Amino acid sequence: MTRPSLWWVGRDLRLADNPALSAAAAAGPVIPVAVLDDATVPPGAAAQWRLGQSMHSLDARLRDLGSRLVVRRGDARTTLAGLLADTGAQAIHLCDPHPFFAVPQGLPLVLHPANNLMASGTLATGAGTPYRRFTPFWKSLRARPIAAPLDTAPVPAPADWPAGLDPADWDLGAAMNRGAAVLARHARIGEAAARQRLDAFLADSLSAYGTDRDRPDRPLGTSGLSDALALGEISARSIWHAVLDRGGPGAETFLSELGWRDFARDLMRHSPDMGRQNWNRDWDGFPWQADNPQAEAWRRAQTGIDMVDAGMREMYVTGRMHNRVRMIAASFLTKHLLTDWRVGTRWFDDTLIDWDPASNAMNWQWVAGSGPDAAPYFRVFNPDSQGDRFDPSGRYRAHWLTGPGADAFAEAAPRAWRVDPRRRPPPVVTLAAGRQRALEAYAIARR
Ligand SMILES: Cc1cc2nc3c(=O)[nH]c(=O)nc-3n(C[C@H](O)[C@H](O)[C@H](O)COP(=O)(O)OP(=O)(O)OC[C@H]3O[C@@H](n4cnc5c(N)ncnc54)[C@H](O)[C@@H]3O)c2cc1C
Repeated sequence: MTRPSLWWVGRDLRLADNPALSAAAAAGPVIPVAVLDDATVPPGAAAQWRLGQSMHSLDARLRDLGSRLVVRRGDARTTLAGLLADTGAQAIHLCDPHPFFAVPQGLPLVLHPANNLMASGTLATGAGTPYRRFTPFWKSLRARPIAAPLDTAPVPAPADWPAGLDPADWDLGAAMNRGAAVLARHARIGEAAARQRLDAFLADSLSAYGTDRDRPDRPLGTSGLSDALALGEISARSIWHAVLDRGGPGAETFLSELGWRDFARDLMRHSPDMGRQNWNRDWDGFPWQADNPQAEAWRRAQTGIDMVDAGMREMYVTGRMHNRVRMIAASFLTKHLLTDWRVGTRWFDDTLIDWDPASNAMNWQWVAGSGPDAAPYFRVFNPDSQGDRFDPSGRYRAHWLTGPGADAFAEAAPRAWRVDPRRRPPPVVTLAAGRQRALEAYAIARR
């Protein structure tokens, strides 16, 4: 009988349009495997929980097909070498997991295209250098054909199964404590749910995406697919082609958002430390403040600024935050509170279920001013006027500050925070004074 291949699921937990699975299945029996180690599991509690949920969903789907997900814990290289020895497998197939983790060396690993529109690092300026601005990157990407998605692959079972952890022992939600039950009410898990979400978005929301995408009070205004994309429950190129086929208003704007995702990955390929260092090193002398009590109030949704606190609560409860509100919350931390963007990135790392190291780092640096194509530092969002503009009836803020969202936040938050969900604290800073302080710091740093 043909020797089996290992399909290392990495961050591509789907059967449709999965180049690694398709290649493994074409070679013979397939053993789907996942490895739990510090390098391959996300650092944050919410992202770990979401990965665990996705693995359970994939395992259930595989079991329906007569297969299963074999999970082992330990250093990836040693664990995979052990699986090769136990199974006699001929190769390990994996979709390029950048930016989530680096591929271990010294294994018979066959690397397949990442879940991107275009492989990171392939687009370059006329001078052969990486793109540093989004618009030319996007023009170049948009002008190229994006590969059509592959069909759903079969998963032929091996004659024998290697031992793996019992699913009850995967333990990926442990750090969430009480918050896991709250998150679970909001999350849509797995490949089928992602496809349903895409179909509903195409039918009901794509045509108004150009305007609704900025409206946190319209929760169905955006696709809500970012966590499914981060886990690879759906492929970016299958979304791309579905949107192109549907066409009409909203389609081009939506495609360009997928382009931002590819841009972030491309930047991180060229600047792997983008999550730790200012992308623009001219910012190294900027007087950011280290972590501080006001930043702690920001984390706890207790700044007294409604739009910021509403967004921070949305993230704590659902593991996601509307993009417009992410920008407002990030701007408030880095400008009104003059706090280092890395303080914010770390909190998002810990609380987002759609955590993506490249998108998170690029967007934080974009807001802070130190990133590629960044918003100019002197453009300081006023959270109140942003709220009036993008949440005109106040529905979004009311939901999180005084409505059911406030109760959900009290349920999810650590007891040590002693959340009194409807109490509004006085502002940690007046908006005018915070803005002024930020502009003065910027003026001094520029000199
Ligand atoms: C400070 C900050 C941190 C962020 N951190 C993350 C993160 O960790 N993970 C993450 O996936 N997104 C991040 N984003 C980008 C964006 O907020 C989310 O992708 C978006 O809110 C997801 O909602 P959606 O799927 O409904 O998006 P839609 O509007 O439906 O967009 C479709 C897809 O395009 C991609 N996309 C959209 N906007 C962006 C963007 N600005 N940058 C990169 N990709 C984008 C996402 O994959 C998204 O799912 C961050 C933005 C900010 C301002």
